[in-house]
Amino acid sequence: MARGKNGKTVWIDGDLCKGTEGCGLCLDVCRFDVLGVAESLSARGVHPAEVINPERCTGCELCVLHCPELAVGIDKEAP
Ligand code: SF4
Ligand code: SF4
Repeated sequence: MARGKNGKTVWIDGDLCKGTEGCGLCLDVCRFDVLGVAESLSARGVHPAEVINPERCTGCELCVLHCPELAVGIDKEAP
């Protein structure tokens, strides 16, 4: 996956996400349209959030801090 600004890469574990239908907090807090809604259903039977524009991510971690399921994370570039 492409890295974002500052060499950081946001990821979402779709199986941990409780679904954008009942949550969507990560989409709400991201100002750069990095995140979107997956077309397919997860194992939980919901449409999870997914990363759609990774190159726009600043690594601000707002989405990480707001996710109640700990389904979002940031990987920094290896030194
Ligand atoms: S780290 Fe910031 S810019 Fe990147 S997806 Fe999360 S809220 Fe958006
Ligand atoms: S904040 Fe977490 S649980 Fe809510 S939609 Fe985003 S990834 Fe899923």
